[in-house]
This record gives sequence, structure tokens and C-alpha cells, in this order.
Amino acid sequence: MAVCARLCGGGQSRRCRRRQRPNQPDQSSDSDMDEEEEERIEGRRKSYGGGGPESGSLADLPPELLVEILSMLPGTALPDVALVCKRFRQIINTETIWRRRCVEEFGVMDDLRKMEVGGMSSYDLYVKLLHPYRHILGLWQPDIGPYGGLLNVVVDGLFVIGWMYLPPHDPRVEDPMRRRPLFRIHVWESKKATVECMYGHKGPHTGDIQTGKKDEFSTKCNQTDHHRMPGGRQEEFRTWLEEEWGRTLEEIFHEHMQELILMKFIYTSQYDNCLTYRRIYLPPAMPSDLLRPGLFKGTYGSHGLEIVMLSFRQTSARATKITGDPNVPAGQLTLDVDLSRPVVLPDLEQQRNIEELSRLVLEVQEEARREATQASGAAAGASGAAAGASGPAAGASDSRQPGPGIAATDHPEAQPFVLPVGVTARNDMYPRTCRRCFYGTGLIAGHGFTSPERTPGLFVLFDQDHFGFIWLELKSFSLYSRLTDHLAHAHAPNMEQFEAMLCNMQSWTS
Ligand SMILES: [Zn+2]
Repeated sequence: MAVCARLCGGGQSRRCRRRQRPNQPDQSSDSDMDEEEEERIEGRRKSYGGGGPESGSLADLPPELLVEILSMLPGTALPDVALVCKRFRQIINTETIWRRRCVEEFGVMDDLRKMEVGGMSSYDLYVKLLHPYRHILGLWQPDIGPYGGLLNVVVDGLFVIGWMYLPPHDPRVEDPMRRRPLFRIHVWESKKATVECMYGHKGPHTGDIQTGKKDEFSTKCNQTDHHRMPGGRQEEFRTWLEEEWGRTLEEIFHEHMQELILMKFIYTSQYDNCLTYRRIYLPPAMPSDLLRPGLFKGTYGSHGLEIVMLSFRQTSARATKITGDPNVPAGQLTLDVDLSRPVVLPDLEQQRNIEELSRLVLEVQEEARREATQASGAAAGASGAAAGASGPAAGASDSRQPGPGIAATDHPEAQPFVLPVGVTARNDMYPRTCRRCFYGTGLIAGHGFTSPERTPGLFVLFDQDHFGFIWLELKSFSLYSRLTDHLAHAHAPNMEQFEAMLCNMQSWTS
């Protein structure tokens, strides 16, 4: 925290003074080099003149070498380095160092030298924008009840932008995600970070970002009239739909479920000017995972496309809803697949027969139940004896450890796959070969998440980027396709934090 305070608070006056010399209008990258050189010389002159570094120390190195070395340190460590001696303090004001920090820590791709010519320094960018908003970079879920959602906060050019990700139009799971900016932050002329709300049709307008609790922040719009159109709210809503989509409410409802829900919440007075977001993480990948974990788009019948997070724990593959619907809200475990219970598919002719497929899956389910009953019986016996930590229960579960055989590197040959007759799919374009199948359950519920129950089904692994689930009871098929967008600052630091997040997510929405 002390480091943070120093980074945010002090040190820029020297930097600013140096920046305030007149700019030549036609500066090229060559003249940028001159500028660097000038800084080096200035640093050298000052330090040899009166800085007085101890002899034989790091500070005796030539300034360009010191710049090179210090620019490898994280930006947050530099204020401490500046306290070491006067020479270090001077060197740390070198623009090259901050330019490199912006690129390496935040992936800033823009030409920072051009920005510097325009009067803003990389130091300003780092200290006033990137560092203070570092903690909001990454993935977030808006608190809009059961619907959830996905916000990705990224460094984009010289902005920090919050993009709301929306699934592609139903049922095209292969299409890229759609995204809309909800807010942006920049440090242009004012030299002070400015937050703007990007919602509505009248362009960016003033907003605010509030942080308080860990892993949570809120955005606030200060000019909600920018969201409005003439006429009543109902009218506004219809006008917006027609302008934006050229279609009526009824026509587009199913296709644009997620966006409409977001829209409705922003229009509803309770959320009119304020939205809260909670941090979500991508799961850490393990070598034993069946396929790379991460986000997928999946078909959910009349609910349209939804976003799920695939992760692995011991012998199960789990898909957690990132977006939800009025039946099963975001945060719930939509699929729970038992990777210790493979299902061997019959030939194509038999695959078309739903009775045959059901029989295969239910057989596995029965076996699982039997073992669970035995295990709990044995466990009860063992606890009665007060000593049986390694009783038959533990033995039974040990025998089902997946071992290395389940790893992604060990997929058998692709085999032909076809959906049984009578099973409905939103998308006919599902793969016609698969690698492996497993027994699993899917979560179904009545409207408002009433009477939730886990119903048996077949998990089908097609390839590294696609899987499917046949919901036997519903006689429907969900196809999932990997979300391929690059998501920076999104991975959980460790499995414990990821698990804690999954656990919390369930309570956010229920
Ligand atoms: Zn606004």
C-alpha cells in the first residue's frame, strides 16, 4: 500500500517540468531518440556533478545501462528504488522505463512515443491510468439477478474500457462474441483520469467508478438523460429496438435475450445509473484436464445462447453458468460430468435410437447410484467403528480415480456421431465425429429456479473446442463452442481462489 501511495502521489513534478519544454511540430521517431539521449546526458551530468553515488556500486554504471536494468523492474517497485539515491531518482524519470512498463505490464500497443510528442508522458499513463485502475482489469459479472453476464475490462489503446460481452445470435455458436462498451477511462488533456459512461446513443458522457469491497466495483452514470429518447419508457424501448435492430420487440426477443436483459436493467430505475460487478476468474489449466478449461458458448433451447465456464476437479468436468435465464440462474452448475464413467457409443444405427442411448446412460447412472449407496453404507459403518478412515468407501472411490488415461493427450480415434432421432438441436451444424463420451447430469428447474433437479445425460467430447450434452429427459441437445477471444488479466492466481469464486457465484444469484 505504501508503494502504491508513493506511486500514485509523488514524483511527477520533476517529470512534468522536464516534459514542459516546447515540442517541435515535426518530431519523428529520430527526434524521440534525441530526447532519450538528452535525458541520459542530463542524468549523467547531474549524477557525476553532485549526485555522489558510492563508488563500486550499481549506481556507477553508465546511465543507459542503469535505464536498461531498472526498466526490468515492475513499476510498483520503482518508487522504492527512487529512494535509494539521487541518481536512481533521476534515472527513474526516464521515459523509456515507463514506456516499457506500460507495454510489458499492460500490453499497451499504441505508439507511446507519439503520445509523448502530444504532450502526455508514458509516466502519466502508467501512474494516473494504468496503475490506479489495474485492479479492475479482467473479467466481471454484473449483478443483474439471475441473468449474470460477462464484462471484460481491458487496456485498449490509451483507454481502459469495459466491454460487455454478448453471445452471438442464436443458434450460431461458431460466431464470435458481440461486445459493447459500457464505460471508458482516459487521461487526455486534463492529466487526470476521466471516467465516461458509454451507454446510450448520445455518445460518451460523465460517469464514475466506485470501488470498495475486494473483487467488486460499481459504475455510475452522471447523465442518465443520455440514455433516454423522447417519449415514455415503453416508447423509448421500442424505438431503440427498431433503430438498433430494425425489428419489433416480439421478433427479436429470443435472438437477443442477453442484450435485452441488460438493456432492461439499465432502463429500470433501480439500476438506472448504477451497476455493480463481481470478479470472475478463468480456471487454471492442469495437464490432466480432458480439454483446456475456459469459457464456451452453448445453445439452451428457447433461452438462446448462454455462456458457461468449463472447469475440472478430480474426476468431474463442470460447466458453470456465466449467463443465466429465468429457469436456471447464472452461477449454477449446469453440467456435472463424471469422467470416471465413460459411455461407449454403439454403432451409428443404434446411436439413432433414443431408447438404446437412454438405456446405456441409465445403466451407468444405476451403477453410480449403487456404488454411492454402498460407499455411504460402508462409511456409516466405518464411522460407527470410529477408526475406519481407509475403509471400503475410500477404496471404492480410489478405484475410480481417472489417472492419466483421461488427459487430453490420450484421445482415442474419432468415431462417427449422430444425434438420436427425436432429439432436438438448435443447430444442425454439430460435429459428426466425437472422441469420447461420459455420463453426466444437467440442471433443470421451473421458472424462478423452482424445484431444481439434476437430470441424466450424455456428455460428448467432439474436439478441443467443442463439446455437447444430450439432455435425455428433455430430448434436447446443447452444443458448446469455445470462446476464442483473448482475455487478459483473467486467470485465477490458483485453484483455491477459483474454487472460492465458483462457490460465491452460486450465492450471488440465488
Ligand atoms: Zn450513462
